[in-house]
Amino acid sequence: MDLFEHEAKELFAEYGVPVQAGKVAHTAAEAREIAAEFAAAGHPLVVVKAQVKTGGRGKAGGVKLADGPDEADAKASQILGMDIKGHTVQKVLIAQASDIAQEYYLSYLVDRAGRQFMSICSVEGGVEIEDVAHSNPEAVARIGIDPLVGVDRAKAAEIVQAGRLPAEAADGAVELAERLWAVFTDEDATLVEVNPLVLTDDGQVLAVDGKVTLDDNAAFRQQHDRFADPSAADPIEARAKAKHLNYVKLDGAVGIIGNGAGLVMSTLDVVAYAGEEFGGVRPANFLDIGGGASAEVMANGLDIVLSDPSVRAVLVNVFGGITSCDAVANGIVSAIGILAERGEEVRHPIVVRLDGNNAAEGRRILTEAGIGVVEQVETMDDAARRAAELASLAATGA
Ligand code: GDP
Ligand code: MN
Repeated sequence: MDLFEHEAKELFAEYGVPVQAGKVAHTAAEAREIAAEFAAAGHPLVVVKAQVKTGGRGKAGGVKLADGPDEADAKASQILGMDIKGHTVQKVLIAQASDIAQEYYLSYLVDRAGRQFMSICSVEGGVEIEDVAHSNPEAVARIGIDPLVGVDRAKAAEIVQAGRLPAEAADGAVELAERLWAVFTDEDATLVEVNPLVLTDDGQVLAVDGKVTLDDNAAFRQQHDRFADPSAADPIEARAKAKHLNYVKLDGAVGIIGNGAGLVMSTLDVVAYAGEEFGGVRPANFLDIGGGASAEVMANGLDIVLSDPSVRAVLVNVFGGITSCDAVANGIVSAIGILAERGEEVRHPIVVRLDGNNAAEGRRILTEAGIGVVEQVETMDDAARRAAELASLAATGA
């Protein structure tokens, strides 16, 4: 999960990473009020910043200085509602502006290839670090970090020195780098980035921007619910997540349910390929129900897949392993029963392909159940073709 800048800075502040004082506004009137508070406290100059989860806001006109409440109101009106790389600005951060002497770059990230952490540090910040790496590679330092050692004062000093930050910024930057490391590890982040890290005219070092990506796999041991952003999530994906299902929404018409990520991935390919014959029918989703395809899991899976209004047919593709095909077949039969009881009678055709452990018994169970919407096909290719065909027939109303 990516955080908004203002959320990243809230975290920074909790760990003593210096940031500008700031507050979020959803309307121009709120922006004016906040600027008025800052002006009353002796800081009339503020910066109005679009809060969207993408970079390059400055270049897009989403970051503007404002001198006093009137200007803050005007700049906020310009920025609110703006589209920045497909993100609509719904809130702005009003921060006390700094007098910037120099802009640097500092980040921590996971170095997967090196199986360790890494810091990137550069005296040339405030611009895209990829551009600096391209135009002036010597200015961008990459410093490996041993996960068992982390970043202590000495390591922070090594990072700051490698980034060639000047002497007047060194002490502040070392202190900040050490605290930023605590944010990175204690919050289970996979990325923390400060661009720009700033030296002010009066010699302060602070984080003027902040980007944080949190590791969702660590959510269970963190208090990150406060950062949840329901407006960003696909509603079906959110429901699937609540039921612990591995679901990704796609934009086609054939709902896919399979067991095992590899099988589901290849099912997507086979359906997309078969669908070409029927005017470009495509898979509607990825859904891996995992190893234990119980009736409950199968019912939840069917429920999720069928709640997508663009689904016209479903393909259940199961290779029996530890969970044998007869158990899966019983799962499908009870799942359809469970859905009927919930008042969600299944009306779309369901093509089922069972193979592997106890396939013959599984097929027999489905045949004997005699469920009208269920159709069995023996091979994966034929099943994919049939599901694509049924989806295209449903779309044309045939
Ligand atoms: P980004 O464009 O999305 O990365 O947004 P940033 O928060 O990094 O802001 C972009 C640029 O605006 C910074 O590199 C600064 O040059 C400028 N900027 C941001 N805050 C201030 C501030 O408080 N004072 C001044 N003078 N410039 C600022
Ligand atoms: Mn930035």
